[in-house]
Amino acid sequence: MGEISYAPLIEDMVWSYSRIKAFDDCPYRWYLKYIRRLHGKDMFFSDYGSFVHKLIELYFLGEKTRDELCDIYLREFKSRVKGHAPNPKVFGNYFKSGLNYIRNIAPFPYNMVAVEKRVDFEVDGIPFVGYIDFLGEKDGELYVVDNKSRTLKPRSARAKPTKTDEELDAYLRQLYIYSAAVEQEYGKTPKALCFNCFRAPVFIVEPFQEQAYAESKKWLEESVARITAEADFKPDVEYFKCTHLCEMNGHCEFYKLSQKKR
Ligand code: SF4
Repeated sequence: MGEISYAPLIEDMVWSYSRIKAFDDCPYRWYLKYIRRLHGKDMFFSDYGSFVHKLIELYFLGEKTRDELCDIYLREFKSRVKGHAPNPKVFGNYFKSGLNYIRNIAPFPYNMVAVEKRVDFEVDGIPFVGYIDFLGEKDGELYVVDNKSRTLKPRSARAKPTKTDEELDAYLRQLYIYSAAVEQEYGKTPKALCFNCFRAPVFIVEPFQEQAYAESKKWLEESVARITAEADFKPDVEYFKCTHLCEMNGHCEFYKLSQKKR
């Protein structure tokens, strides 16, 4: 793979947060997905996230009542969440926590401006596409809300950032990038960036910080440059990630080899 340059192909790409994240997870996964353009298989965690996202969208659009959403959840869970969970306990936890959220779903503390808003924009000349789960308004200020199946921890009050603070910062990058789209369309950045971690459930509100905004844009620029310059696209084999998170594992000879050795 090393002698071929994919840069001309990569330079024509429109970027998204998941496209960059896929490379960070495993360069070979990125190669299979975005260079070879192979079709990935259904995976439990991503199917689950998409299904609950859709139900939340229907609620905020006013298209379904809470009771109707519960019916859809129970009726369609099996057909919409096709991938295999790591074990029955994980399946049970996800099923129950999702149902519990849908049963008690309530409006966010903001007026709705948009739901699942597609944003096509540029960040320092890099074409980018994203979907803002919920854009809200309160007292003339804008709020970006992201629905997450992953349960994040609110920021600690510690002087030295904890591991969970660092994780929160990593997830916030996506919302800071989307803030550039908000700024371009509405002439101002959001007042706060929020995570609706619906399985907990916990609602995290992070005040918008100019420094983190600048760092996120820099991170995007550096990530795109790094991927464009990549030649090897080496696999990063790790059991849980390859088995339960990577939709390309059916195409991956490195994963298959590692399975034989187990
Ligand atoms: S199965 Fe693992 S090594 Fe293979 S592409 Fe996916 S993440 Fe990478």
